Amino acid sequence: MSATDELQSAALELGFELCGVTLAKQPKTFDAFERWIDAGRHAGMNHLAEKRSARQHPDFVLRGVQSILMLGVSFATVLGSEAHPVRQLAGVAEYARGIDYHDWIRQRFGKLETKHRELFPNGRCRGVVDTAPILEKQFAVEAGLGQIGYNTLLINPKYGSKIFLAAFLSTEYLQTDSNSNAMNIHSNINTNINVTNSEVETSETGTIVLCNNCRRCLNSCPTGALVQPFVLDARRCLNYWTIEHRGEVPPEIQQKLGQRFFGCDICVNICPCNRNCPTFPKGTVNPKTLGSETLRHLVSGSPLERMFR
Ligand code: SF4
Ligand code: SF4
Repeated sequence: MSATDELQSAALELGFELCGVTLAKQPKTFDAFERWIDAGRHAGMNHLAEKRSARQHPDFVLRGVQSILMLGVSFATVLGSEAHPVRQLAGVAEYARGIDYHDWIRQRFGKLETKHRELFPNGRCRGVVDTAPILEKQFAVEAGLGQIGYNTLLINPKYGSKIFLAAFLSTEYLQTDSNSNAMNIHSNINTNINVTNSEVETSETGTIVLCNNCRRCLNSCPTGALVQPFVLDARRCLNYWTIEHRGEVPPEIQQKLGQRFFGCDICVNICPCNRNCPTFPKGTVNPKTLGSETLRHLVSGSPLERMFR
C-alpha cells in the first residue's frame, strides 16, 4: 500500500466518508471569486475581501504545500453521533441540529496528523475547516468528491450536498491517481436528477455539470439570492442574514425570514440530489421566546454557539 493509500485509509477509518487527493495550485475558480468580491456579493463578510489574495494559492495556508487531501463527512454521520438539545429549537438549518461539525472534524485532524508524521517524518501538514482562506469546494471538485450545483453547493452522487468539507494540506507529494472516491460523478448525478435535457454545460470550475436547467433551487429561493446558476449574492441570502450578520436586519429581508432563526435550507431541500439523504426533524420551540441563558445552554456545543461569541 502506498503512503497516499495509507493516509486515505486512515481518514476513512476515522469516519470521513469521502476523501480524494488533488495538487495544491491556484484554483480554477479564483478569477470568479475575485469577480464575486468586486461585485460586493460577499455582503458584510469583510474578511473574505481582506484576505482575497490568500485564496489564490493554498501556499498561504501552509508554506510549501504540495498536495491536498480533501475530506467529506455526511450530515448524518456527524449529527447522528449524539443527541443534542439544540434539536428542540425551530428555525434551525439542518446542518446545525447537533454537535458542531468543526469540533467533530478537528478531533480527527489530530489523529490524521499523527499518521502523516508516521508516514512522512520530515513533512508538514495542516488540517483546516472553514476558517482558513482556501476555496475548498473547488479543491473538492478536483479531488473527485463531487460537482458544483447551480445552488453553489458541492454535490456528491451518494450524499448529495448534505456533507461537511475539510482540507488536509501536506508538504508531501500525494498520488492523485489513488482517489478511491472519484466515482463516475457525471452519470450518477444525471441519474439522480432524472434530466430530460441532454445538453452538457460547463461551469466556472471548468468541469461538466448536469443540473441541466433543473433550476429548482433558483426558482424556489425566496429572495432571489441565486442570481444565476453558480452565483450566490449573499446580500440577499437568508443564510447570511441569520448566521453571519450582526445587528438590524432590513425590513425587506425580515419579512422573508418567517420562522427561520439560524440558516435556510430551501435550496438544499428542493434539490433532487438530496432526495435520498436522511433528514433530522425540525424542533418546535421558538428560540425567540427564550431567555438568553436558556438559549445559550441549549445551543452549547452546536454551530449556534457562535451567536454568543
Ligand atoms: S439559503 Fe435560502 S436564501 Fe440563501 S440561496 Fe438558498 S434558498 Fe436562497
Ligand atoms: S436544485 Fe436542481 S439546479 Fe439546483 S443544484 Fe439541485 S439539481 Fe442543480
